[in-house]
Amino acid sequence: MFLRTLLLLLIPFFCFGQKYKKIHNRSVLADTHNDIPSSAIEKKLAFDTNLKGKTHSDLNRMFKGGLDVQMFSIFCDGDQTNPYNYANREIDSVYEWVRRNPSKMMMVYTPADLQKALKEKKLTTMLGVEGGHMIENDLGKLDALYKRGMRYMTITWNNSTDWATSAAYETSLQLPPKEGEQAPARKIGLTEFGNSVIKRMNELGVMVDVSHVGEQTFWDIIKISSKPIIASHSCVWNLCPHRRNLKDDQIKAIAKTGGVVFLNFYAGFIDSTYELKRNAFIQQHQTEINQLVQEGKQKDYALMMVSEKYKSEMDGLRPPLSLLLDHLDYIVKLVGADHVGMGSDFDGIEAPPLELNGVEDYPLITKGLLERGYSKKDIKKILGGNFIRVFKANSNK
Ligand SMILES: [Zn+2]
Repeated sequence: MFLRTLLLLLIPFFCFGQKYKKIHNRSVLADTHNDIPSSAIEKKLAFDTNLKGKTHSDLNRMFKGGLDVQMFSIFCDGDQTNPYNYANREIDSVYEWVRRNPSKMMMVYTPADLQKALKEKKLTTMLGVEGGHMIENDLGKLDALYKRGMRYMTITWNNSTDWATSAAYETSLQLPPKEGEQAPARKIGLTEFGNSVIKRMNELGVMVDVSHVGEQTFWDIIKISSKPIIASHSCVWNLCPHRRNLKDDQIKAIAKTGGVVFLNFYAGFIDSTYELKRNAFIQQHQTEINQLVQEGKQKDYALMMVSEKYKSEMDGLRPPLSLLLDHLDYIVKLVGADHVGMGSDFDGIEAPPLELNGVEDYPLITKGLLERGYSKKDIKKILGGNFIRVFKANSNK
Protein backbone atom coordinates (compact mmCIF):
# COMPACT_ATOMS: atom_id res chain seq x y z
CA MET A 1 0.00 0.00 0.00
CA PHE A 2 2.74 2.39 1.01
CA LEU A 3 4.66 1.62 -2.17
CA ARG A 4 1.59 2.20 -4.35
CA THR A 5 0.89 5.56 -2.70
CA LEU A 6 4.53 6.53 -3.09
CA LEU A 7 4.45 5.60 -6.78
CA LEU A 8 1.26 7.58 -7.35
CA LEU A 9 2.85 10.56 -5.67
CA LEU A 10 6.01 10.26 -7.73
CA ILE A 11 4.35 9.83 -11.15
CA PRO A 12 3.64 13.58 -11.69
CA PHE A 13 7.28 14.41 -10.85
CA PHE A 14 8.52 11.70 -13.20
CA CYS A 15 6.23 12.86 -16.03
CA PHE A 16 7.24 16.49 -15.51
CA GLY A 17 10.88 15.48 -15.48
CA GLN A 18 10.47 13.78 -18.84
CA LYS A 19 8.24 16.52 -20.25
CA TYR A 20 10.70 19.39 -19.93
CA LYS A 21 13.50 17.34 -21.44
CA LYS A 22 11.27 16.29 -24.32
CA ILE A 23 10.16 19.86 -25.05
CA HIS A 24 13.74 21.07 -24.73
CA ASN A 25 15.11 18.48 -27.12
CA ARG A 26 12.35 19.02 -29.67
CA SER A 27 12.75 22.81 -29.70
CA VAL A 28 15.35 24.73 -31.67
CA LEU A 29 17.58 26.43 -29.12
CA ALA A 30 19.43 29.52 -30.33
CA ASP A 31 21.87 31.65 -28.37
CA THR A 32 23.05 34.97 -29.79
CA HIS A 33 26.10 35.60 -27.65
CA ASN A 34 28.88 33.27 -26.57
CA ASP A 35 32.39 34.61 -26.03
CA ILE A 36 34.29 31.34 -26.31
CA PRO A 37 36.34 32.51 -29.36
CA SER A 38 38.12 35.26 -27.39
CA SER A 39 38.03 33.27 -24.15
CA ALA A 40 39.75 30.31 -25.90
CA ILE A 41 42.46 32.64 -27.24
CA GLU A 42 43.06 34.27 -23.84
CA LYS A 43 43.18 30.91 -22.06
CA LYS A 44 44.97 29.06 -24.90
CA LEU A 45 42.29 26.33 -25.08
CA ALA A 46 40.63 24.47 -27.97
CA PHE A 47 36.82 24.68 -28.07
CA ASP A 48 36.47 21.17 -29.53
CA THR A 49 38.11 19.49 -26.53
CA ASN A 50 36.68 18.74 -23.10
CA LEU A 51 36.89 22.06 -21.20
CA LYS A 52 34.64 21.25 -18.24
CA GLY A 53 35.89 23.12 -15.20
CA LYS A 54 37.84 25.56 -17.39
CA THR A 55 35.12 27.32 -19.41
CA HIS A 56 31.33 27.60 -19.64
CA SER A 57 31.34 26.09 -23.14
CA ASP A 58 32.82 23.43 -25.37
CA LEU A 59 31.48 21.69 -28.46
CA ASN A 60 30.24 18.50 -26.82
CA ARG A 61 28.66 20.32 -23.90
CA MET A 62 26.75 22.48 -26.42
CA PHE A 63 25.19 19.28 -27.78
CA LYS A 64 24.50 18.08 -24.26
CA GLY A 65 22.68 21.35 -23.49
CA GLY A 66 20.56 20.98 -26.64
CA LEU A 67 22.02 24.02 -28.44
CA ASP A 68 21.16 24.09 -32.14
CA VAL A 69 22.19 27.60 -33.15
CA GLN A 70 25.17 29.42 -31.68
CA MET A 71 26.19 32.92 -32.65
CA PHE A 72 29.84 33.14 -31.62
CA SER A 73 30.95 36.56 -30.47
CA ILE A 74 33.97 38.08 -32.21
CA PHE A 75 35.37 40.45 -29.64
CA CYS A 76 38.30 42.60 -28.73
CA ASP A 77 38.29 45.56 -26.39
CA GLY A 78 38.87 49.14 -27.46
CA ASP A 79 42.56 49.05 -26.50
CA GLN A 80 43.66 46.78 -29.39
CA THR A 81 45.69 48.63 -32.04
CA ASN A 82 44.45 46.58 -35.03
CA PRO A 83 40.90 45.55 -34.12
CA TYR A 84 40.01 44.50 -37.69
CA ASN A 85 42.95 42.08 -37.83
CA TYR A 86 42.13 40.84 -34.34
CA ALA A 87 38.52 40.13 -35.44
CA ASN A 88 39.76 38.21 -38.46
CA ARG A 89 42.11 36.11 -36.36
CA GLU A 90 39.18 35.12 -34.12
CA ILE A 91 37.03 34.34 -37.14
CA ASP A 92 39.90 32.12 -38.39
CA SER A 93 39.66 30.13 -35.12
CA VAL A 94 35.93 29.53 -35.56
CA TYR A 95 36.48 28.42 -39.19
CA GLU A 96 39.20 26.06 -37.97
CA TRP A 97 36.81 24.47 -35.42
CA VAL A 98 34.26 23.93 -38.20
CA ARG A 99 36.94 22.48 -40.52
CA ARG A 100 38.02 20.01 -37.83
CA ASN A 101 34.43 18.94 -37.02
CA PRO A 102 32.55 18.65 -40.32
CA SER A 103 30.04 16.17 -38.93
CA LYS A 104 29.20 18.38 -35.93
CA MET A 105 29.42 22.02 -37.07
CA MET A 106 28.36 24.01 -40.12
CA MET A 107 29.03 27.68 -40.95
CA VAL A 108 25.70 29.32 -41.67
CA TYR A 109 25.21 32.44 -43.80
CA THR A 110 21.55 32.28 -44.86
CA PRO A 111 18.18 31.06 -43.50
CA ALA A 112 18.39 28.19 -46.04
CA ASP A 113 21.79 27.16 -44.61
CA LEU A 114 20.26 27.28 -41.15
CA GLN A 115 17.49 24.86 -42.11
CA LYS A 116 20.07 22.53 -43.68
CA ALA A 117 22.26 22.55 -40.56
CA LEU A 118 19.23 21.87 -38.33
CA LYS A 119 18.13 19.00 -40.57
CA GLU A 120 21.59 17.46 -40.43
CA LYS A 121 21.68 17.98 -36.64
CA LYS A 122 24.85 20.04 -36.83
CA LEU A 123 25.60 23.03 -34.64
CA THR A 124 24.51 26.04 -36.67
CA THR A 125 27.62 28.19 -36.40
CA MET A 126 27.17 31.92 -36.89
CA LEU A 127 29.19 35.05 -36.14
CA GLY A 128 28.37 38.32 -34.37
CA VAL A 129 30.99 41.07 -34.16
CA GLU A 130 30.91 42.80 -30.76
CA GLY A 131 31.97 46.38 -31.35
CA GLY A 132 31.87 48.76 -34.31
CA HIS A 133 35.55 49.64 -33.69
CA MET A 134 36.43 46.43 -35.57
CA ILE A 135 35.42 47.99 -38.94
CA GLU A 136 38.00 50.77 -38.34
CA ASN A 137 35.77 53.53 -39.81
CA ASP A 138 35.70 51.73 -43.18
CA LEU A 139 32.55 50.45 -44.92
CA GLY A 140 34.78 48.18 -47.04
CA LYS A 141 35.80 46.35 -43.85
CA LEU A 142 32.11 46.05 -42.86
CA ASP A 143 31.47 44.35 -46.21
CA ALA A 144 34.53 42.13 -45.77
CA LEU A 145 33.35 40.96 -42.32
CA TYR A 146 29.90 40.28 -43.77
CA LYS A 147 31.51 38.09 -46.45
CA ARG A 148 33.26 36.13 -43.71
CA GLY A 149 29.93 35.44 -41.99
CA MET A 150 29.18 38.36 -39.64
CA ARG A 151 25.40 38.36 -39.24
CA TYR A 152 25.12 40.92 -36.47
CA MET A 153 27.31 43.74 -35.38
CA THR A 154 27.06 45.30 -31.92
CA ILE A 155 27.27 48.98 -32.83
CA THR A 156 29.58 49.79 -29.91
CA TRP A 157 31.20 47.82 -27.12
CA ASN A 158 31.93 49.76 -23.89
CA ASN A 159 34.21 52.03 -25.94
CA SER A 160 32.63 54.57 -28.28
CA THR A 161 33.68 54.72 -31.93
CA ASP A 162 34.19 57.94 -33.91
CA TRP A 163 30.64 57.48 -35.21
CA ALA A 164 28.57 56.10 -32.28
CA THR A 165 28.61 56.63 -28.51
CA SER A 166 28.46 53.74 -26.05
CA ALA A 167 26.33 53.37 -22.92
CA ALA A 168 29.51 53.58 -20.83
CA TYR A 169 30.46 56.91 -22.43
CA GLU A 170 26.98 58.45 -22.41
CA THR A 171 26.41 57.59 -18.75
CA SER A 172 29.86 58.94 -17.80
CA LEU A 173 28.71 62.35 -19.12
CA GLN A 174 25.97 62.40 -16.48
CA LEU A 175 28.68 62.59 -13.80
CA PRO A 176 30.21 66.00 -13.05
CA PRO A 177 33.65 66.39 -14.76
CA LYS A 178 36.61 65.66 -12.51
CA GLU A 179 38.64 68.63 -11.30
CA GLY A 180 40.69 70.15 -14.09
CA GLU A 181 38.87 68.06 -16.71
CA GLN A 182 37.09 69.65 -19.67
CA ALA A 183 33.58 68.48 -20.53
CA PRO A 184 33.98 66.58 -23.84
CA ALA A 185 32.84 68.43 -26.95
CA ARG A 186 31.77 65.47 -29.06
CA LYS A 187 28.21 64.91 -30.20
CA ILE A 188 26.46 61.89 -28.71
CA GLY A 189 24.54 59.34 -30.79
CA LEU A 190 25.22 58.44 -34.42
CA THR A 191 27.15 60.70 -36.81
CA GLU A 192 26.45 60.86 -40.56
CA PHE A 193 28.96 58.06 -41.08
CA GLY A 194 27.15 56.14 -38.30
CA ASN A 195 23.92 56.47 -40.28
CA SER A 196 25.64 55.06 -43.37
CA VAL A 197 26.91 52.08 -41.32
CA ILE A 198 23.35 51.23 -40.23
CA LYS A 199 22.02 51.62 -43.79
CA ARG A 200 24.76 49.37 -45.18
CA MET A 201 24.06 46.74 -42.47
CA ASN A 202 20.37 46.78 -43.44
CA GLU A 203 21.29 46.35 -47.13
CA LEU A 204 23.67 43.48 -46.46
CA GLY A 205 21.41 41.72 -43.96
CA VAL A 206 23.62 42.20 -40.89
CA MET A 207 21.40 42.51 -37.80
CA VAL A 208 21.85 45.77 -35.89
CA ASP A 209 22.69 44.96 -32.26
CA VAL A 210 22.02 47.66 -29.64
CA SER A 211 23.53 45.92 -26.59
CA HIS A 212 26.23 48.28 -25.18
CA VAL A 213 25.09 51.42 -27.06
CA GLY A 214 24.18 54.68 -25.32
CA GLU A 215 20.56 55.82 -25.22
CA GLN A 216 21.07 58.58 -27.80
CA THR A 217 22.71 56.09 -30.17
CA PHE A 218 19.81 53.69 -29.52
CA TRP A 219 17.16 56.24 -30.53
CA ASP A 220 19.17 57.35 -33.56
CA ILE A 221 19.30 53.70 -34.67
CA ILE A 222 15.55 53.28 -34.16
CA LYS A 223 15.03 56.30 -36.42
CA ILE A 224 17.22 55.04 -39.24
CA SER A 225 17.09 51.22 -39.28
CA SER A 226 14.65 49.72 -41.78
CA LYS A 227 14.93 46.17 -40.39
CA PRO A 228 14.08 44.56 -37.02
CA ILE A 229 16.84 45.25 -34.49
CA ILE A 230 18.18 43.06 -31.71
CA ALA A 231 19.82 43.39 -28.32
CA SER A 232 22.10 40.33 -28.46
CA HIS A 233 22.88 40.23 -24.71
CA SER A 234 21.01 42.65 -22.42
CA CYS A 235 18.38 42.57 -19.64
CA VAL A 236 15.72 44.77 -18.06
CA TRP A 237 16.73 48.12 -16.53
CA ASN A 238 13.61 48.31 -14.36
CA LEU A 239 14.64 45.10 -12.54
CA CYS A 240 18.35 45.90 -12.43
CA PRO A 241 19.23 49.52 -13.23
CA HIS A 242 22.55 48.98 -15.03
CA ARG A 243 23.63 51.00 -18.08
CA ARG A 244 23.83 47.76 -20.10
CA ASN A 245 20.13 47.05 -19.56
CA LEU A 246 17.12 48.34 -21.47
CA LYS A 247 14.44 50.71 -20.23
CA ASP A 248 10.77 49.93 -20.90
CA ASP A 249 10.46 52.42 -23.78
CA GLN A 250 13.54 50.86 -25.43
CA ILE A 251 12.12 47.32 -25.10
CA LYS A 252 8.84 48.53 -26.61
CA ALA A 253 10.71 50.23 -29.46
CA ILE A 254 12.67 47.04 -30.24
CA ALA A 255 9.44 45.02 -30.25
CA LYS A 256 7.80 47.57 -32.56
CA THR A 257 10.52 46.93 -35.18
CA GLY A 258 9.74 43.20 -34.90
CA GLY A 259 13.02 42.72 -33.05
CA VAL A 260 14.10 40.65 -30.04
CA VAL A 261 15.87 41.18 -26.71
CA PHE A 262 18.15 38.19 -26.09
CA LEU A 263 18.73 37.89 -22.36
CA ASN A 264 22.20 38.07 -20.84
CA PHE A 265 22.83 35.57 -17.99
CA TYR A 266 25.31 37.84 -16.19
CA ALA A 267 24.72 38.25 -12.43
CA GLY A 268 25.52 41.96 -12.69
CA PHE A 269 22.68 42.54 -15.17
CA ILE A 270 20.03 40.39 -13.48
CA ASP A 271 20.73 41.10 -9.79
CA SER A 272 20.98 44.71 -8.60
CA THR A 273 22.85 43.64 -5.43
CA TYR A 274 25.69 41.91 -7.34
CA GLU A 275 27.84 44.90 -8.30
CA LEU A 276 28.67 45.89 -4.72
CA LYS A 277 29.61 42.30 -3.86
CA ARG A 278 31.72 42.08 -7.01
CA ASN A 279 33.58 45.29 -6.17
CA ALA A 280 34.53 43.83 -2.79
CA PHE A 281 35.73 40.63 -4.52
CA ILE A 282 37.86 42.65 -6.95
CA GLN A 283 39.37 44.67 -4.14
CA GLN A 284 40.25 41.48 -2.30
CA HIS A 285 42.06 40.03 -5.34
CA GLN A 286 43.32 43.22 -7.02
CA THR A 287 47.00 42.23 -6.94
CA GLU A 288 46.39 38.97 -8.80
CA ILE A 289 44.13 40.67 -11.37
CA ASN A 290 46.77 43.37 -12.01
CA GLN A 291 49.41 40.67 -12.40
CA LEU A 292 47.39 38.94 -15.18
CA VAL A 293 46.79 42.28 -16.95
CA GLN A 294 50.54 42.93 -16.83
CA GLU A 295 51.07 39.53 -18.44
CA GLY A 296 48.92 40.74 -21.37
CA LYS A 297 45.42 39.44 -20.52
CA GLN A 298 42.44 41.66 -21.38
CA LYS A 299 40.98 43.12 -18.14
CA ASP A 300 37.64 41.26 -18.23
CA TYR A 301 39.40 37.93 -18.77
CA ALA A 302 41.83 38.58 -15.93
CA LEU A 303 38.82 38.91 -13.62
CA MET A 304 37.23 35.74 -15.03
CA MET A 305 40.39 33.74 -14.39
CA VAL A 306 40.63 34.97 -10.80
CA SER A 307 36.91 34.19 -10.29
CA GLU A 308 37.52 30.60 -11.44
CA LYS A 309 40.49 30.28 -9.09
CA TYR A 310 38.38 31.34 -6.08
CA LYS A 311 35.28 29.45 -7.23
CA SER A 312 33.56 28.84 -3.90
CA GLU A 313 33.98 32.48 -2.91
CA MET A 314 32.46 33.55 -6.27
CA ASP A 315 29.63 30.99 -6.00
CA GLY A 316 28.48 32.74 -2.84
CA LEU A 317 27.85 35.90 -4.88
CA ARG A 318 25.86 34.28 -7.73
CA PRO A 319 22.05 34.85 -7.91
CA PRO A 320 19.50 32.04 -8.47
CA LEU A 321 18.14 31.17 -11.94
CA SER A 322 14.72 32.51 -10.87
CA LEU A 323 16.06 36.08 -11.10
CA LEU A 324 16.95 35.57 -14.78
CA LEU A 325 13.47 34.15 -15.41
CA ASP A 326 11.98 37.25 -13.74
CA HIS A 327 13.58 39.35 -16.51
CA LEU A 328 12.06 37.04 -19.09
CA ASP A 329 8.60 37.29 -17.48
CA TYR A 330 8.92 41.07 -17.38
CA ILE A 331 9.57 41.35 -21.13
CA VAL A 332 6.79 38.88 -21.98
CA LYS A 333 4.33 40.90 -19.86
CA LEU A 334 5.49 44.16 -21.46
CA VAL A 335 5.62 43.20 -25.17
CA GLY A 336 4.69 39.51 -25.50
CA ALA A 337 6.52 36.23 -26.03
CA ASP A 338 7.62 37.13 -29.58
CA HIS A 339 10.34 39.51 -28.45
CA VAL A 340 12.60 37.65 -26.03
CA GLY A 341 15.29 35.00 -26.41
CA MET A 342 18.66 33.73 -25.13
CA GLY A 343 21.92 35.71 -25.35
CA SER A 344 23.84 34.05 -22.53
CA ASP A 345 27.24 35.81 -22.71
CA PHE A 346 28.73 32.51 -21.49
CA ASP A 347 32.53 32.71 -21.38
CA GLY A 348 32.34 36.50 -21.38
CA ILE A 349 31.09 36.77 -17.78
CA GLU A 350 32.50 35.67 -14.45
CA ALA A 351 29.14 34.87 -12.83
CA PRO A 352 26.06 33.24 -14.43
CA PRO A 353 23.14 32.18 -12.15
CA LEU A 354 23.98 29.46 -9.63
CA GLU A 355 22.15 26.64 -11.46
CA LEU A 356 23.70 27.47 -14.84
CA ASN A 357 27.32 26.36 -14.68
CA GLY A 358 27.67 26.17 -18.43
CA VAL A 359 25.96 25.47 -21.76
CA GLU A 360 25.09 21.94 -20.61
CA ASP A 361 22.57 23.41 -18.15
CA TYR A 362 20.26 25.03 -20.74
CA PRO A 363 17.48 22.45 -20.16
CA LEU A 364 16.93 23.98 -16.69
CA ILE A 365 15.64 27.14 -18.39
CA THR A 366 12.97 25.12 -20.21
CA LYS A 367 12.12 23.45 -16.89
CA GLY A 368 11.78 26.86 -15.24
CA LEU A 369 9.55 28.17 -18.04
CA LEU A 370 7.25 25.14 -17.76
CA GLU A 371 7.07 25.59 -13.99
CA ARG A 372 6.04 29.21 -14.56
CA GLY A 373 3.17 28.06 -16.79
CA TYR A 374 4.51 28.95 -20.24
CA SER A 375 2.85 27.09 -23.11
CA LYS A 376 4.84 24.79 -25.35
CA LYS A 377 4.25 27.20 -28.23
CA ASP A 378 5.70 30.16 -26.32
CA ILE A 379 8.63 28.12 -25.03
CA LYS A 380 9.54 27.22 -28.61
CA LYS A 381 9.45 30.87 -29.63
CA ILE A 382 11.58 31.97 -26.68
CA LEU A 383 14.18 29.23 -27.10
CA GLY A 384 14.75 29.70 -30.82
CA GLY A 385 11.70 30.59 -32.90
CA ASN A 386 12.09 34.32 -32.29
CA PHE A 387 15.74 34.17 -33.34
CA ILE A 388 14.92 32.42 -36.61
CA ARG A 389 12.19 34.98 -37.35
CA VAL A 390 14.44 38.00 -36.78
CA PHE A 391 17.33 36.46 -38.74
CA LYS A 392 15.03 35.76 -41.72
CA ALA A 393 13.55 39.26 -41.56
CA ASN A 394 17.05 40.76 -41.75
CA SER A 395 18.44 38.42 -44.37
CA ASN A 396 18.21 39.39 -48.01
CA LYS A 397 18.91 35.86 -49.25
ZN1 LIG B 1 29.13 42.39 -24.28
